[in-house]
This record gives sequence, structure tokens and C-alpha cells, in this order.
Amino acid sequence: MVKQISIGCERCYQNGYIIEKKGNFAMAKACECVLKCRECNGTGSTISKNQNGYTHVAMCRVCGVVRRNIKLYNLAGIPAKYWHVLQVDTFQPKHETHKYALRYAKDFVQLYPEKRGFLLMGKAGLGKTHLAIGAISEITLERGIKCLFKDFFYLLSELKEAYSQGNPENEVLLPLIETEVLVIDELGKAKSSDWELNILDQLISKRYNAEKITLITTNYVSKDHLTKQGGENHEILEERVGERIASRLYEMCEFIYLEGKDHRKLRKKV
Ligand SMILES: [Zn+2]
Ligand SMILES: [Zn+2]
Repeated sequence: MVKQISIGCERCYQNGYIIEKKGNFAMAKACECVLKCRECNGTGSTISKNQNGYTHVAMCRVCGVVRRNIKLYNLAGIPAKYWHVLQVDTFQPKHETHKYALRYAKDFVQLYPEKRGFLLMGKAGLGKTHLAIGAISEITLERGIKCLFKDFFYLLSELKEAYSQGNPENEVLLPLIETEVLVIDELGKAKSSDWELNILDQLISKRYNAEKITLITTNYVSKDHLTKQGGENHEILEERVGERIASRLYEMCEFIYLEGKDHRKLRKKV
């Protein structure tokens, strides 16, 4: 049997990449074992001749996939503070509802693209963003899927800026429409104007029509959930983003409610 050559060393825990914080973002870089790949002399591609004598350049079969996944990870816009969150498994459930959320996210990753996206709702500090980032990091680094993370508040300010400079908002929206998986973090955090909600509606509709997967985190809770479960003093998602957007999200995402106490506050008390 031919021994399969693979990339990886102790330095990168056999992954071929190393993640670090760079400015506001988490960034991946190729490990020495990739940069010195013997198969391609560190170029990332190999040249071969076919039977007809034509030469063609191909992605290196040893390090090519790792190099591609590193590029994808670096385009995903993952915030620096989540640099260590590379898998959904790093999420630690502290409540029954968290266990369900973790199980869904794990299945989502393993069966990608079979399962629809998820919308995590509940109070701040329960690890909703952590779970969404674990999912996109894992499918980017392990499966080569193009993902994008966007903070809702930041998205609105980008749109406002594009508008004030006379740039069409499409410049801001296009990458969000095109990406295979989009995370919108803290949906509804900023009070949105009708204009902003209209743009958000366009974005969600386009992704819905293209059957693209969207993951959402929000501190607001859907009406439906409140009716079924009752609940603490929650503000309602539909009132925040409008019925139209909420009902489309309902079709696109599994709505998962997380209960529990803010882990960041708990940690401070110790
Ligand atoms: Zn290495
Ligand atoms: Zn190589």
C-alpha cells in the first residue's frame, strides 16, 4: 500500500495552520510544515504533464487544501477574541437548552449542507456567538466552505457609511449575499430605521431564494417561543425586526432558545 503523504507537525497539532490574533480579527497562517512542503517545494502547486504532453498546473495534493482553507478562514471576518474557537465542541453547555443547541450545531457541521441554519436566542453571555463561530470555523477549516461573520451593529454602520458617501449599498451587501454561510451576530441590537430594515429584508430574502444557509444570534426572543414557554422579561424579535423578516428566518433557521445565567458575570464573581 502506498503511504499517504499528509501535512502536519507537532507545532500545528497536525493541522497545517496556526491561528493568531491580528488587529480586530482571528487569522490563520500556514505552519512551517506547509511552507516547506516537499511535494511542491512550498509553492502550493505542482506542474504535471498528461499523456498528450500538455503541462498543467494543479493544486498541490499535499498542502493545497490547507492553503485554500487558510485563505477562506482569513476572509471570514472572525473577531480576534474568538481566535481559540475552532470547533463547536469548545462550547460548554451549562443548561439542558444549551445541550440541545450544541447537538444541533454539531449535526449542522457534520451533515453540512443537509441541515438548515440555526437562530440562537436568549440573554447575553450564554455563548451564542461562541457556538455560531465554532460552526463556521469548523466548516471553513475542515471542509473549505466559504463563510462570513457579521456583527449586526457593524453592518448597519457600514450601510450608513456607504449611503452617506453615495456608494450603492450593494457594495456592502454583495459579499453577504454571495457567501455560502452567513452569521449575523446580535440581530436587532441596534434600533433600526425603516430604511435599514428594508435593506436587511432584501438581504435575507435573497439568501432565502438562493437557499443559502444563515446563522443568527440574538438577545430577542420570538413571539412563538414566548407563547409556548412563557419566559422571563424578554423583548420580542418580531417587534424589533418586523414580522416579515422574522417569518422568513423562521423558515430558514431552527429557532433555539438558550436559558441560563450570563457566564461572563458568573466568572467575575469568583
Ligand atoms: Zn506544522
Ligand atoms: Zn505542497
